[in-house]
Amino acid sequence: MKELKLFCTHCKKEFEIEEFLVRCDICNEPLEVEEIKYGNIHEGNSLKQNIFERYQEFMPFENGNELISMGEGFTPLIKSHYLAEKYSIKNIFFKNEMQNPTWSFKDRGTSACLIHAKELGYKKIGTVSTGNMAASVAAYGRKNKLETFVIINKNMPEEKIEPIAIYEPHLIKYDGDYGNLYYKSLEIGKDNHIYFMNSDVPMRVEGSKTIAFEICEQLDFIMPDYVVVPTSAGGNIRGIEKGFREFKNAGLIKSIPKMIVAQAEGCSPIVKAFENKSERIERFMNPRTIAHAIENPLPPSGNQVLRMLRKNSGYAVSVSEEEIIEAQSLMAKEGIFGQPASAVSLAVVIKIRKGEIITSEDSVVCIVTGSGLKYTEVLKQHKIKTEKADQMNIDRVITELKI
Ligand SMILES: *Cc1c(COP(=O)(O)O)cnc(C)c1O
Ligand SMILES: [Zn+2]
Repeated sequence: MKELKLFCTHCKKEFEIEEFLVRCDICNEPLEVEEIKYGNIHEGNSLKQNIFERYQEFMPFENGNELISMGEGFTPLIKSHYLAEKYSIKNIFFKNEMQNPTWSFKDRGTSACLIHAKELGYKKIGTVSTGNMAASVAAYGRKNKLETFVIINKNMPEEKIEPIAIYEPHLIKYDGDYGNLYYKSLEIGKDNHIYFMNSDVPMRVEGSKTIAFEICEQLDFIMPDYVVVPTSAGGNIRGIEKGFREFKNAGLIKSIPKMIVAQAEGCSPIVKAFENKSERIERFMNPRTIAHAIENPLPPSGNQVLRMLRKNSGYAVSVSEEEIIEAQSLMAKEGIFGQPASAVSLAVVIKIRKGEIITSEDSVVCIVTGSGLKYTEVLKQHKIKTEKADQMNIDRVITELKI
């Protein structure tokens, strides 16, 4: 590792990066790698690089050689002319994180954690997750020949377990308070030398920085006004904001976009605290939304995200189930089939375009966090149209459809 420190995001206490540490032992807030002050992009053929080689000078590790990469990151940024015109916004871009090895942005953080874990000599890794993070950790653990433990909720349906089980991790169905497992798993990890790469551990945040780095390159270093991020634990939005900050430190960009936390009304602990101007989040009671990937009632980085939003002059906005479904359908009109959680960012843009925050002069990047194929059950809520035809009338049916 480079000579960098970990700092508590709240009380600023210093910790060692050569150990696997996650929370401050005084205030229990998340730890974060010290900000990088200067650096440059390693230009080169991105078909032959991985993201950690290209952005090596902004990463806490010397090189990424420990990682057996699967081509994470380098995802497209797609401009939507149709939606920009429809909602009278200068530019709407979709950062399509579905094009990662396991179809979500989680692969960036998983691979950053893996480099750290291997440098520290860990042979065992794990995670607490019921969705994208579980699949990501299981896949990378398998490929990198590490013993992998995935703890899932005992009520998880088989069709959601199978896409994780295919990578053959140790799958543990847990019967108990799943909400507290984040902290419990860290203790278990300490006792058993397992690196639990949960949602917002410091290296996962480092991995998410690469989303910001790529956006900067893709927009020729001219910054959008807003970046909208579907947020659950808070690790991803923290990483994206930190990435912009570090590129600004290095003089590569002039300003940092405003960050917008996007949540579902059915589980919006960060939005609630933000609207109440509170400094601390509270557990969200009876969470319920189709955006399962962002259904964490007590996000471990919630307080830090509130602090970050204040400094960044950002916002936190929630949307209804109907608005999420509508946005999922609108994204599909642009050829992008994201899972409901992914559509929450566009839903938020549409909602606040009606107000004062976003104007017709603004450029907005929506992070599309994960693939629609992960959750096909939701398709029942869309109007899917088909026509019937047989050997006798198929010509006529098609001709009539054309008109
Ligand atoms: C994990 C995840 C999120 C939330 O990211 P956090 O870092 O937990 O805030 C959003 N969307 C999808 C699809 C995810 O898998
Ligand atoms: Zn602290």
